[in-house]
Amino acid sequence: MTPVATHCPYCALQCATHLVEQPGALQVRPRDFPTNQGGLCRKGWTAPDVLTAPDRLTTPLVRNADGVLVEASWDTALDFVADRIRSLQLAYGRDSVAVFGGGGLTNEKAYALGKFARVALRTANVDYNGRFCMSSAAAATNRAFGIDRGLPFPLADLGGAGAVLLVGSNLADTMPPAVAHLQSARDAGGLLVVDPRRSATAALSGALHLQATPGTDLALVLSLTHVVLQEGLADTAYLRERTDDPDALIRSTAAWWPERAERVTGVPAATIRRAARVLAAAAPVHGGAGAFILTGRGAEQHSKGTDTVTACINLALALGLPGRLGSGYGCITGQGNGQGGREHGQKADQLPGYRSISDPAARAYVAGVWGVRPEDLPGPGKSAVELINSLGTDAGPKALLVHGSNLLVSAPHLASVRDRLAALDLLVVADVVPSETALLADVVFPVTQWAEEDGTMTSLEGRVLRRRTAVAAPGQVRSDLAVFAGLADRLGVAGFSKDPQEVFEELRLASAGGRADYSGITWDRLDAGEALFWPVPHVEHPGTPRLFADRFATPDGRAQVVPVDHRPVADDLNAGAPMYLVTGRLLQHYQSGAQTRRVPELVEAEPEVFAELHPRVAAQLGIADGRPVRLRTARGSMVLPARVTTDVRPDTVFVPFHFGGVGAVNELTNDVLDPVSGMPEFKACAVQVSAASLP
Ligand code: SF4
Repeated sequence: MTPVATHCPYCALQCATHLVEQPGALQVRPRDFPTNQGGLCRKGWTAPDVLTAPDRLTTPLVRNADGVLVEASWDTALDFVADRIRSLQLAYGRDSVAVFGGGGLTNEKAYALGKFARVALRTANVDYNGRFCMSSAAAATNRAFGIDRGLPFPLADLGGAGAVLLVGSNLADTMPPAVAHLQSARDAGGLLVVDPRRSATAALSGALHLQATPGTDLALVLSLTHVVLQEGLADTAYLRERTDDPDALIRSTAAWWPERAERVTGVPAATIRRAARVLAAAAPVHGGAGAFILTGRGAEQHSKGTDTVTACINLALALGLPGRLGSGYGCITGQGNGQGGREHGQKADQLPGYRSISDPAARAYVAGVWGVRPEDLPGPGKSAVELINSLGTDAGPKALLVHGSNLLVSAPHLASVRDRLAALDLLVVADVVPSETALLADVVFPVTQWAEEDGTMTSLEGRVLRRRTAVAAPGQVRSDLAVFAGLADRLGVAGFSKDPQEVFEELRLASAGGRADYSGITWDRLDAGEALFWPVPHVEHPGTPRLFADRFATPDGRAQVVPVDHRPVADDLNAGAPMYLVTGRLLQHYQSGAQTRRVPELVEAEPEVFAELHPRVAAQLGIADGRPVRLRTARGSMVLPARVTTDVRPDTVFVPFHFGGVGAVNELTNDVLDPVSGMPEFKACAVQVSAASLP
């Protein structure tokens, strides 16, 4: 077999790989590429195991009268779903059917899913699991810069930086090859990490690990900005020329002197001052090598996530970083196609090209591409958690189609999610394995995964990449595109192709003139190896690796300063629940774990969920390492083994979220939402911790 050039199926770093046939198995080889520089993490190396998972879904399943999922033909399954959709929409209206997508779907699938919802179903109820990932950063960058591209610069730009401030990002576990890009900042003594846990990444930062109390990143960043402004370290010319309201920035941080911030965050005032000075010294205004501020889920997955990211952007503006070569602000997108997944119309409020569904001109343009009347396109729908919470209610959807998402692990407050899914008349899940959510479904469609399909993905840099077929899909497996086309056909709606290249051609047209403009990207250009960062407005255009050099994408070309302030965690500590529960990620697993929990090497390394406890707390409660601990929040309780470690603060319990069933920590998390982005508060809630006996 000729080596097939493609990319890792997992995270947004999209490490480049070759797939080669070795005796008995497909194997991954790293391919040189600017982001991974020939490196791969353990997840990437073992990704072929998911293709041959023993319980791989290979045939459609339909639940029979006895409540058992049994094998069915594609025609039977598609006919059944189409009939149910038709009768439910007849009885309850168009919005009675909802669609839920995923940030791991290819651009073509994400595009087809949004079009299927708006054109074939004509429902407003469509959203996706990216709402749980990057939505706070997307909302913050859209309102500050007028556009949302996770990194508005190539990741390799970090290679010459004098300082990098990571707020809530654990790159060393989530994207290990990316750590090489931090080396320059580390060598300069300028790697700063804000994280309540001493993660593998925080450990690299030494004394510049700012181990803030969970839920206080916003206050900490306000204080860093306060120091920059008070000590005359700001880039005043940049603030005057490139932002709309420098005074708002000064006013919003004036009350956050470090001693006050220390009381809120627990980070010593002297450390805050030192961190601000280290970061500022690397800024171009002081002749430094360059400085970056990057946020991850730790900063974003809060009910104040948008404001926390906004505070980080304001700090970057104070230092004159965005748009400067070798400096900037960026969001470390998580899911494999977390960037592309939010550009092509899966989001409740978006149309392809990253256009607003409320914009009359955008509606008219996209309706023209789709061959429908603008007035027939639905308006904005509910964000993910609002949509889930409405399922099966009197006024809510009666049917849900899920593609590329495992809600029963990854959504917050799972008892509520389980109730809402159970209240549906019809649950349809398209997946590669019988995930926790698929096992609840009335119909399961077996679909292709990475090495079995062609398509495009967009990495955390906004770089559009080719995914290529290396092996035939097993059994009766088909692409999600075939599901949309098959259902649309049965609903009497034309215009849905099963061919990824044809869908990409339509996507290009639909995106033309939008914020994420793919119109100049062709299959041939990608196959010729061109690295194309959107926007690419015509076929001669070289792509746009760096944004904001001259102006921001706002009406006046200036970055918008949005004043923000700290507020406590929604579900804050109390006498009955005196500690914080924080969730996060492990090196060995990816997202809901549906894929990585089926890879023997990864399971052997990290087989089960656990709770990290500080030794002092463990001693007080009489809990030894490995012994069971009960965690109880306002949403529920669970028992899991303790890992006693000084990596967590004494007021904090850390639990990874990759596990399902009795190990699903999202049973405990809070589904209160960020009012701007709809992001749930995964990262901090009040928890009671006690010794337990094994269940
Ligand atoms: Fe690279 Fe991410 Fe895949 Fe690991 S999981 S190999 S970091 S793309």
